[in-house]
Amino acid sequence: MTIFAPGDAGVVQSHAADELAQGLTGMLGRAPQRRIAPIDRCALALGARPGASAPRAPSDGYTIELAGDTLWLVGGSARQLLDAVYALLRRLGASFPLGGAPRFPLLSQGERGTVLPEALRRVGSLSFTPAFTRRALVSDIMTWHYAEPDHFQAHLAHDREFVPWMARRAINAFFYIRHTVDSRYRIEELEPLMERNGVELEYGGHILQQLLPRELFAHSPELFPQATDATRNPRGNLCVSQPRALELIGANAREYLRPHPDTRRLHIWGADVFAGAWCQCADCRELAPQIQYMRAVEAIAQAARPVEVAYLGYHDTLEPVAGLDPPDNVWLEWAPRERCYRHAIDDRDCERNARYFASLRRYLDIFAGRCHVFEYYADAILFGGLSVAMPRTIARDLRAYHALGIRSVSCLTFGAFSLLAYPVNLVAFADLCADLEAPSPQFLAGVADERHQSCAARSALAYGEVEKATRLTLDYGDVMRPYVPAHQRAAKRRELEAAATALRRACALSPDGDPLMVAEVQLWDYGAATLDGLAEFLAALETTDRARGEAAIARLSAALGLVRAIQADFKGTWGAFDLERFHQIWLARMQRELDQTR
Ligand SMILES: [Zn+2]
Ligand SMILES: [Zn+2]
Repeated sequence: MTIFAPGDAGVVQSHAADELAQGLTGMLGRAPQRRIAPIDRCALALGARPGASAPRAPSDGYTIELAGDTLWLVGGSARQLLDAVYALLRRLGASFPLGGAPRFPLLSQGERGTVLPEALRRVGSLSFTPAFTRRALVSDIMTWHYAEPDHFQAHLAHDREFVPWMARRAINAFFYIRHTVDSRYRIEELEPLMERNGVELEYGGHILQQLLPRELFAHSPELFPQATDATRNPRGNLCVSQPRALELIGANAREYLRPHPDTRRLHIWGADVFAGAWCQCADCRELAPQIQYMRAVEAIAQAARPVEVAYLGYHDTLEPVAGLDPPDNVWLEWAPRERCYRHAIDDRDCERNARYFASLRRYLDIFAGRCHVFEYYADAILFGGLSVAMPRTIARDLRAYHALGIRSVSCLTFGAFSLLAYPVNLVAFADLCADLEAPSPQFLAGVADERHQSCAARSALAYGEVEKATRLTLDYGDVMRPYVPAHQRAAKRRELEAAATALRRACALSPDGDPLMVAEVQLWDYGAATLDGLAEFLAALETTDRARGEAAIARLSAALGLVRAIQADFKGTWGAFDLERFHQIWLARMQRELDQTR
């Protein structure tokens, strides 16, 4: 067997040839030869030396084509060639488990001989266009703990395994969210790995405040937002009625982009709060947050052309208002964080989602269809660190987004912790973004088999219990903010108790698994204890029983001990450090809620 590649292959093309060689070595029992041939930058050939030029690939996708004794792999881009390589290997029986090494089962003896082995010949010819063009994962850059060398190294060790997995499962973009506390906007240490794997990098996040340097406040407070009491606020966003403030953020956005002339997309978000970050001065007062925000985004989009700028539909900008008129290089980034995950986004039976979906459709009209959906399927903060699984919701969501014409989706992640807590969601998201026909009912069993070969059947049943618990829990936004309206408390409490019981069944199904299963059981146990604590807390609010509420909070606090016991590399830096911090915030808020009841 021979792999043909050009002498001047690019980084991604060379990597595609290496990956193909590694997979075939495993499956054929010997390494294929490597030869140089005059081939296009987005193609590879297998078998006999190609006699003609490569076939054409779809502009967004790849083609695998059999021509005589040559099997062509051709991408619309070098990265799509890499997608073709993984598609071929998967068709031959390879698998790429989340959090594990690739598996390349040996083909049978009769399949391995000749110029082009029979198994490869049988793959034949096919063309594939992925459902979504941009298939991105996203992380808050602060979760790398880059200022603490040990924590940072632990995260990078995870990334070195995870980035190749992303590429193998068709993820093609990664977006680092910057917050005001960050001193970095990129992880340079990972860039060669991202480049080799054809993963496009995106920057930005909550950077609007950074584009108006806070030092200016001392001399030019008028550039900053005015509060209702007429004082100017050095936090918050800016006063969009001040032309100089708009000029400054445009100029500073250009500076931000200067070191990266190849950046195609910049995410410009305001302060991460529900209200209060926009201006109430006499000129701005009448302007809705959406209009104020759009003025700022327009100023940046004009300065940054041709770079695309993302306007975030989230919290106080979730719903569109009349008067928005985005320039053509401004895209909506729609982030329905507090939606219901029990139901799909287009499920008419779900009151909560119906409102979100209607807002999305109105926004799509305003943006002429230019939209990135930002989803939260692996958001450890939203889900309170609990393990959840909702492959059916993800499948129906992605079909609904696709049917609206959306071709760009992303999913927020939290490093290794997301692999421990949301393996089914991550795999479902990655596979479905590429192929909406991927059978969603099989994700539970498929992921159980990938991760727990020695106890796949029991793990699949356990994942099924996690899915039940998820459906019972996730209809009210942040799991650790169970402040449902008073008339819903009793029903929610019963659902949380039933969810805790489902998680206990999941634990009981997996008494003596592999080390990863032990870690998953510890996290489910934390989930069960947490859900019971939340149910008790609701009961305390219902009966205005302070002592019962205090006991519930103490129980929630004790539950964190179950996460502390989890092996460090499985729970990652988020599970080891960030969860501790968030947990304190959540419980303090619950305490305040309790203090207000009497
Ligand atoms: Zn103003
Ligand atoms: Zn719902």
